Amino acid sequence: MNYEEDLQSEDSRIISPTPQAVESGNENVLRPKSLDEYIGQEQLRRSLSIFIQAARNRGEVLDHVLFHGFPGLGKTTLSHIIAHEMGAGIKATSGPVIEKQGDLAAILTSLEEGDVLFIDEIHRLNHAVEEVLYPAMEDFQLDLIIGQGPGARSVKMDLPHFTLVGATTRTGLLTAPLRDRFGVVLRLEFYSPEELVIIVQRSGHILGMEVDRTGAFELGRRSRGTPRIANRLLRRVRDFAEVGGHKVVNKTVVQAALDLLGVDQFGLDDMDRRIMLAIIDKFDGGPIGLETLATVVCEEKNTLEDVYEPFLIQSGFIKRTPRGRVATAQAYAHFSRKMPHHPLSPPILFDE
Ligand code: ADP
Repeated sequence: MNYEEDLQSEDSRIISPTPQAVESGNENVLRPKSLDEYIGQEQLRRSLSIFIQAARNRGEVLDHVLFHGFPGLGKTTLSHIIAHEMGAGIKATSGPVIEKQGDLAAILTSLEEGDVLFIDEIHRLNHAVEEVLYPAMEDFQLDLIIGQGPGARSVKMDLPHFTLVGATTRTGLLTAPLRDRFGVVLRLEFYSPEELVIIVQRSGHILGMEVDRTGAFELGRRSRGTPRIANRLLRRVRDFAEVGGHKVVNKTVVQAALDLLGVDQFGLDDMDRRIMLAIIDKFDGGPIGLETLATVVCEEKNTLEDVYEPFLIQSGFIKRTPRGRVATAQAYAHFSRKMPHHPLSPPILFDE
C-alpha cells in the first residue's frame, strides 16, 4: 500500500480527524454560522472579533488570514464565519485542486469586491500557482504570463479587494514568502472536554436528539479534542440509541455504543492499541525506533508519524526521545501493564 492509499485507509477510521466522503453535507448542517455561535478557541475568537470589527469600521477588507491546526478543529468553519461577519461572499477551494496558474486566475477574476477566498491545504499549492498568488495578495493584481517562447505575453489586471483565508495543518509546511503575506496568523488548539460537551449538546439539539450532560461528557472525552470526531461519534450513537429505544443519550448509552465501535474512554481505537501494546509488550516500553515500530504494526512509517503518533504524544501515551519512542507511565496504567524497572538503562536526558 502506498502512502496516499494508506491515508485513505486511515480515513475510514471512526476517529479519523479528516472528513469522510459522505460527511460534507452533514458537516454544513452542524457548522456554527457566527462568531457568537462558535464554541471554544477563546483567544483566537477574541482576536478575530477585534480584527473584523476594525476592518468593518474602516470599511476595508480584512487582512489575509492563515489558520493552522489539526484537521477537524474548525478552520473551514471559521472561514465561513469571517465571510458572514464581514457580510461578504465566499469561494472555497483547496491547494491540490488548483493545478495550473490559469485555474487560480479563473478563481481570482471571479471574485467580487470584499469576498473571502478560502484555500484549504494551502501548503499543497504548487510553486507556479503560488507565484500568481503573491501579487494578488499584496497589490490585488493579477500578473500572468500567457503562452511560451516569442509568442508569450504578459497579462496584468486589477483584482477586486478580497481576503484570502488559508488553512494548513502546520505553518512550517508553507514557503516563507507565502507565510509572510498573511497579516493574521492564528492557531487552533484541541478542545477541552468541557467545550466538547457544549459542542455535542448543540449538535445533538440540531439533530433532534436529547443528550444529557453525562452523555455529552463521555462522548466529548472520547473525541480526541476534535469537534469533527465528536460530531461523527454522535451520529453513530444516535443510530445505537434509536435502535435500542433509548430516548435520552446518557453516559451508559454512549459507553455501550462507543465500546461497540472500539473507541475507548480516551478515544483510542484498535490501531492505537496495537501501536501502544507493541511498544509495551514487544519492546519493554521502548525506546523503539519509528522504522521498527512501523514494521511491527504493518504501517507506513510516514503514516505512523503523521497520522497516529501526534494524538498519542499529545495525550501523553508516547514520549519521543532521541533514542526512539517510549511508552509513558500513563500508557502502562491505561493498558493495565506493570511498568518495568530498568536499573541499567541510562536515564533519558533530552527530548527531541
Ligand atoms: P477543519 O476545516 O479544521 O478540518 P471544520 O471547520 O470543517 O474543520 O470543522 C469540522 C466539523 O466540526 C464541522 O462540522 C463543524 O461543524 C464542527 N466544528 C468545528 N469547530 C467547531 C466549534 N468551535 N463549535 C462547534 N462545532 C465546530
